Amino acid sequence: MRNLTVLSGGMGGARFLQGLLHGIERGLLPGVERDATVTVVANTADDLWVHGLKVCPDLDTVMYTLGDGIDAERGWGRRDETWSVKEDLAAYGVEPSWFGLGDRDIATHLVRTQMLDAGYALSEVTAALCRRWQPGVRLLPMTDDRVETHVAIADADSPSGRRVVHFQEYWVRLRAAVPAEAVVFVGLDDATPAPGVIDAITDAELVVLPPSNPVVSIGTILGVPRVREALVATSAPVVGLSPIVGGTHVRGMAEQMLNAIEVEVSAAGVGLHYGSRADGGVLDGWLVDETDRDQVDRVVAGGLPCRAVPLMMTDVGATAAMAAAAVELVAR
Ligand code: GDP
Ligand code: CA
Repeated sequence: MRNLTVLSGGMGGARFLQGLLHGIERGLLPGVERDATVTVVANTADDLWVHGLKVCPDLDTVMYTLGDGIDAERGWGRRDETWSVKEDLAAYGVEPSWFGLGDRDIATHLVRTQMLDAGYALSEVTAALCRRWQPGVRLLPMTDDRVETHVAIADADSPSGRRVVHFQEYWVRLRAAVPAEAVVFVGLDDATPAPGVIDAITDAELVVLPPSNPVVSIGTILGVPRVREALVATSAPVVGLSPIVGGTHVRGMAEQMLNAIEVEVSAAGVGLHYGSRADGGVLDGWLVDETDRDQVDRVVAGGLPCRAVPLMMTDVGATAAMAAAAVELVAR
């Protein structure tokens, strides 16, 4: 295999990609050539405009992680970051004060915003930013169009009893500490896949759904018109890895998001939510963590080949082993 495509969110997807690239370089993935190329289709529904700047959290997390510029402890933003601009914005009392942009990070958003203003598409801008970072993958936004995930939360002060906030406000300001009553993907139904996205799925020899958020990362990519159809139709096997381990997410807020769309918060629940390609879904195989071993039979009974293996991305070696297990599960 020489052509792999991965649908990715931010941190979970980026960490998986690190392990996948490590596995490819070392020849650890059965049937995958060492010179194989990886195309990443990244979620852009978390994107937002802040202080006049276009910020693309998931694209940047993938780019910085694979380009060795990430603050690994925080999991987002730049290493050796400083916060002078943020402090001075706060001194002006400018909102949103809850969304922190570091000084180094701001350079990325300035370049991106200028290029968008000059008429370049987000996919072109992303390619330009990647010329600096050399992430070792072809990084594509899922769409060049504006798509935003919004979350409905309870609000006693509102006449409807509800208030809708941008996903970033739910996650960063509210820390996902209040229940999400609904998730709305503004603009998704009318979005066009970015150039190369459909071909990346159609021409791939393997497609991987890493342990990214099934609702606000993978769910949005699958919601871009023609993407799900491309997955259903591709001759490549499609394999996924569970972000849910032991009945909750490893990091983040997948549990809250799954509750909002009424999908069971379990490894089996997410696998069966994606569904078997043999049965109208998008997967040919599903990996669950070894602690969820007891759920394998249920997934298999749902028509989806499944195995339990260690799924904790503790280091690049462990993550490469996850990628190898994913390839093995669906290798013909
Ligand atoms: P985000 O955009 O930064 O939220 O990142 P993603 O959507 O790509 O990934 C978030 C998901 O990664 C969460 O649902 C986590 O449960 C999952 N995740 C993070 N670390 C691990 C890990 O070590 N193992 C597994 N199986 N899932 C993980
Ligand atoms: Ca994200």
